[in-house]
Amino acid sequence: MDYFKRSKIASILKNPEKSDSVIVMGWVRTRRDSQNLTFLEINDGSSLANLQIVIEKLERFKELENIKLGAAARIVGKLVPVPERKHKIELHPDELLLVGDCPADYPLQKKRHSFEYLREIAHLRPRTNTFGAVNRFRSRIAYAIHKFFQERGFYYIHSPMITATDAEGAGEQFWVTTFDLDKIPMKDGEVDYDQDFFGQQAFLTVSGQLEAEIMATSLGDVYTFGPTFRAEKSNTSRHLSEFWMIEPEMAFCDLAEDMRLAGEFLMYLFQYALDNCQEEMEFFNAWVEKNRIATLESLLKSKFEIITYTEAVAILKKAKKTFEFPVDWGVSLQAEHERYLCEEHFKAPVMVHDYPRDIKAFYMRLNDDEKTVAAVDVLVPQIGEIIGGSQREERLDILKKQVEFFGVKEESIWWYEELRRYGTCPHAGFGLGFDRVLMYMSGMANIRDVVPFPRYPRSAKF
Ligand code: ATP
Ligand code: MN
Repeated sequence: MDYFKRSKIASILKNPEKSDSVIVMGWVRTRRDSQNLTFLEINDGSSLANLQIVIEKLERFKELENIKLGAAARIVGKLVPVPERKHKIELHPDELLLVGDCPADYPLQKKRHSFEYLREIAHLRPRTNTFGAVNRFRSRIAYAIHKFFQERGFYYIHSPMITATDAEGAGEQFWVTTFDLDKIPMKDGEVDYDQDFFGQQAFLTVSGQLEAEIMATSLGDVYTFGPTFRAEKSNTSRHLSEFWMIEPEMAFCDLAEDMRLAGEFLMYLFQYALDNCQEEMEFFNAWVEKNRIATLESLLKSKFEIITYTEAVAILKKAKKTFEFPVDWGVSLQAEHERYLCEEHFKAPVMVHDYPRDIKAFYMRLNDDEKTVAAVDVLVPQIGEIIGGSQREERLDILKKQVEFFGVKEESIWWYEELRRYGTCPHAGFGLGFDRVLMYMSGMANIRDVVPFPRYPRSAKF
């Protein structure tokens, strides 16, 4: 299988040393011809940078003519350092092989394409500089997430993608069924779910948190990191129908400890990106958004301001600024409010905790004032909320009251209540949208451009 033995361009460029025989394979990014020489730039996806190939036009390179923009090629040759040149090293071939040719109607001609157009050709999109960088970055940050939790003794758990709980409200869930939608079985005038695949209604999950709580109350500290699905019809630049979420959950843990971990986690990711994704960060900084590196660096130097929701509302009411949505105790904070707190009032990232019970979820722990719950939102400049977390209600009697208050169907979460009957303990966790944090770190303006195959209303191509 010698044919497939190859060097990665990323490692050649990292260590630009002379070598008598290397094999590279990749796709032609540019081709330039002079009278006696042809210059190719080859990219194999391992890095942003291309490898420069300098070819003398010799008889024996029969296939050179067809190694055009977009073609896949195999090149065997000598690496020659050229320290005085920008590209530092070049390859002088002994053998040139066309692996797959590429006709002149290749959609990725050498010019800038709009992100909207590139979404229409998602099968070729990762071959561009931007989407190569985005997808390499996505992979590296996914690794950082595992590294962060694994180093702290957390276990990675797989929460199910198909679920029968509609704890967060069925409105946003995709239904999972094998019914023929043209002939749905009925019984007494209603849909007979008993005949459906699972013998009951089933959905794609909107969050793995409730299952993470099961695992945390057995394994201690756990995290989920997987896809979640929301059928919200919001065609915004921040919502996908399929997105990835990270949800750590910790047993014997209160809100203060949860907040500490959330802050540490966010800072870890920013630091990791600056330390280990330099090529991508520099690319984003140059081509996507000018201030990305400076923004992350300044966040890393700052400390989280910690305030209660009640204090946040008081600050916002005193603000000499008119908001589109007026603020009053009891309303949800909008992005404009969250941004005001970070960008103008504190000039720092902010954690807001103890929100009114009525605007949060049934599982959040009721505070002694019985008006607020032990919830926290972590806010950062430019976007507002990036992490939402809470201490969970571990007291069965209070949980039951909350379940009733929020109108959650008890039959679908009886098991959740049993966790409070058998050896209950204080526990807490938070959720971070992976795609949202990638947007933030890269500066990409649309969430559809940080995921390789975005799903959103009326779009599930590729
Ligand atoms: P939003 O108000 O932006 O719709 P949410 O309040 O519905 O968010 P949560 O239910 O708290 O969000 O979900 C946890 C995290 O998942 C959010 O902080 C966000 O990062 C991310 N998230 C939520 N909905 C989406 C979506 N449709 N696409 C991508 N990420 C999402
Ligand atoms: Mn939402």
